[in-house]
Parts: sequence; C-alpha cells; structure tokens
Amino acid sequence: MSFLYNLCSSSSGNATYIGTQTEGFFIDMGTGVRTVLRFLKEAQIEKRAVQGIFLTHEHSDHVKGLSTLLKYLPVPVYASRGTLLALYEKGILSNQNRMIPLNGPADIGRFIVTPYATSHDAAESVCYQIQEKNGATAAVCTDLGYVSEEIEAMLSECSTVMLESNHDREMLRNGPYPYFLKKRILSDSGHLSNAQAAQTVRTLADRNLQRVLLAHLSEHNNLPALALQSSLEAVGENACEVYVLPKWGEGRRFFL
Ligand SMILES: [Zn+2]
Ligand SMILES: [Zn+2]
Repeated sequence: MSFLYNLCSSSSGNATYIGTQTEGFFIDMGTGVRTVLRFLKEAQIEKRAVQGIFLTHEHSDHVKGLSTLLKYLPVPVYASRGTLLALYEKGILSNQNRMIPLNGPADIGRFIVTPYATSHDAAESVCYQIQEKNGATAAVCTDLGYVSEEIEAMLSECSTVMLESNHDREMLRNGPYPYFLKKRILSDSGHLSNAQAAQTVRTLADRNLQRVLLAHLSEHNNLPALALQSSLEAVGENACEVYVLPKWGEGRRFFL
C-alpha cells in the first residue's frame, strides 16, 4: 500500500516521500542526506526503490540537500525546465546528474505524477498531483501566492491533499519581518495564509477530500494551533481529517 511520509515541512526545509517500501519517489529535497538515509533505513526502504526526485522550485528550503544526496542516490531529477535551468546556473545540478524536464504527466512505476504551475516568485514553480494507477489521488501543493482555478480543480480530484498554510496574517503583519518581505509573502506570488488555506479546504471538503495535511508553516509568523483552527472550522460537518505537519517528521505514514 502506498503512503506519504513527510520528512520535514517548514520555511526552512521541505521533503516528502511517496510510495511503498519497494518503489517511490521524493518531492523536494530540503533536508540533509543523513536525515534521508535514516528515514530510508527506518522505513525499510532500499535505496534502489527510490525512482526519482521531483522538485517544485529552486528555493533553498526545497533543494538544499539535493546535490549531496544525488552523490549517494544518483536518481533522475524531475522538474520544470525553468527550475532545472535555475539549479544548473546555481551549480546545484550539473552534467553529472540526470535532469528530466516535465512537460506533462510522468509515468513512474505505479504512479502518474503531473505538475501544475503555481504562482510563486521562482523561475517556474509547480505543485504535483500524484495518481496511483487504479488507486487514490493525492497532491503536494506548497509555495503559492493564491489558489488558481486550475489548481483548485486539480485538488478537487484528490482524497489526500498536502496544502500550504504558511502564516497567520496578523502575526505576519505585526511580526519581525522587514516590510519588503511581508509584502512578498502576502502577495499573489508569495505564500498561502491560514485563511487562504482554509478557504480552499472549505471548497475541497464538499468534494473528494478525506484528509488535509497542513504544510510549510512559517516558524515566525504562524502557530500550529492557529493553522489547525482555521482548517478545522473550514471542514464543517464533513468527515475530513485535518493534520498539521510538524517541522520535523514524526514517523507517521499516511496511507493513500
Ligand atoms: Zn519558495
Ligand atoms: Zn518553500
């Protein structure tokens, strides 16, 4: 049975494994190689089971462990052309690596992984829908300034959604960040607030959503309880599980 396991989720590092013990892939690699290898060992996943790393964009909290990990685990890297190029220019990817540009759905073992463009201040950022052949559909959707109609339609097909709930607007406004950074985060190419996430959850809860994993919480401008409260209210009467992903994975597997 396939599961989603989040290794870390916050403004300082993001990485998620999706698959089984015998085949799967990572989405983003914003954590160190030791954390990844420890996870694989504890979850009894052999290195050869990892079929690739999908990247959402080139910001360091999503790629900082990438180049070192690829030395231990030389798997293909899937991303938009813009993201691959940005990483190549930064020297994070090189000709030694296998770079696969995504134009549309990628067929990877038991999964179809489809990128969707997000509005974020990166070269060509995306989020992903993951469809298990003859199975469940999930999404990993962080780092977006707003939820476009296309993304909302994609999320509506999913039973498990990992969704950004980055900041509480009041905490951000009154917090320590400089004005330009506050403006960036609040903009349409920044990050989703708890209220924006909750608004999306409200829509999805009436469709196929069974479980939402609130992700990418800001360490300075949010509290897990605030993110939880917003989305708990949003699911209303629907029997929908709401879970706040901690900064560091707690070893919990969410079966798809
Ligand atoms: Zn970002
Ligand atoms: Zn990020």
